Amino acid sequence: MILQHLFHAGPCSRADLARATGLTRVTVSDLVAALLQAGLVEELGQQPRPDNKVGKPATLVGLRTDSFQIVGIDLLDVAAHGAVLDLTGAVVERRGVPEMPTGDAGVRALVALCAELLALATHPVLGIGITSPGVIDEAGTVLQAPNREWYDLPLAEILTAELGVPAQVANDANAAALGEFTFGGATGSGLLTISVGDGVGAGLILDGALLLGQGAVGELGHVTVIDDDVPDAMLGTPERCACGRLGCLETILSVPALRRRIAGLDPRAAEAALAAVGHRLGLVLAPVVSMVNLTEIVLSGPADLLGGPLLDATLSTIRERTLPYVSRDLQLRMTTLGEDGALAGAAVLVLSGRLGVS
Ligand SMILES: [Zn+2]
Repeated sequence: MILQHLFHAGPCSRADLARATGLTRVTVSDLVAALLQAGLVEELGQQPRPDNKVGKPATLVGLRTDSFQIVGIDLLDVAAHGAVLDLTGAVVERRGVPEMPTGDAGVRALVALCAELLALATHPVLGIGITSPGVIDEAGTVLQAPNREWYDLPLAEILTAELGVPAQVANDANAAALGEFTFGGATGSGLLTISVGDGVGAGLILDGALLLGQGAVGELGHVTVIDDDVPDAMLGTPERCACGRLGCLETILSVPALRRRIAGLDPRAAEAALAAVGHRLGLVLAPVVSMVNLTEIVLSGPADLLGGPLLDATLSTIRERTLPYVSRDLQLRMTTLGEDGALAGAAVLVLSGRLGVS
């Protein structure tokens, strides 16, 4: 509780911490002493009393962000991006693998990449955070990640045992939602993050908590958005999806699908095509917005495809199809975390798993 408060509120006095956490001052002093010893907080000198009252000025304590580092790895469908990060989620060093093998060889390549990053760290490493596509349970077991040929693989357990540093593993879309919540300025009362790449993933945070369900929360990519008996005026007839069905959201919203659609079009026609995709996305999202009272939707992916007419059409379709008081305060925006959003999410896995900070 103390670390969580310092992380979000910044430096505080022990009295502030007692007020904010509801703990007694004695308990707070004991805990701060233990955290000082562990190198997780530091004394920051004295704060002048704001009310000009007489008495001893309070000493501020703050979270130390420089005493530990985190190793984060974002597994994509083919490549792996890795980094050493500090406790604010800032990247200190980067290493990656352009083409990761699958199956057991993929696990060995991941262990090697983790070891390389651990060797680059200049401070003790608090933990390893891995984000991966696929269905992953709370213990960090990959239940299925078909692109990597991983099934019922206890990845967190293997990495922890091989490397001697605690590892956390989570689905990439869920980690992206955590990254937006912790480092991207999202409020988290009703946050949906949509990651657009080779596929479409989504993560959902309600009332400050990530929703996990049976591991398949946010599987919006394979919702049918174009029926074969009702072709879309702009988008035409439905295409076959990798899942075998016709007209899934992924067949129009993935990056390759968007690039194919606007290839060779003049700027106006390209804008109209992107808006048509945004309209279909809005149709999918309107019931979600209404159902769970979303206040913020954050898109990540190429801004040239997602950030303009597509985003505008999505928002206007949601507004047309929901009650004004439901969608009035809804914000739909591009991520501010850029390409490092998934790595920030990997860092949050470690912060929350090891320090209870999110
Ligand atoms: Zn599909």
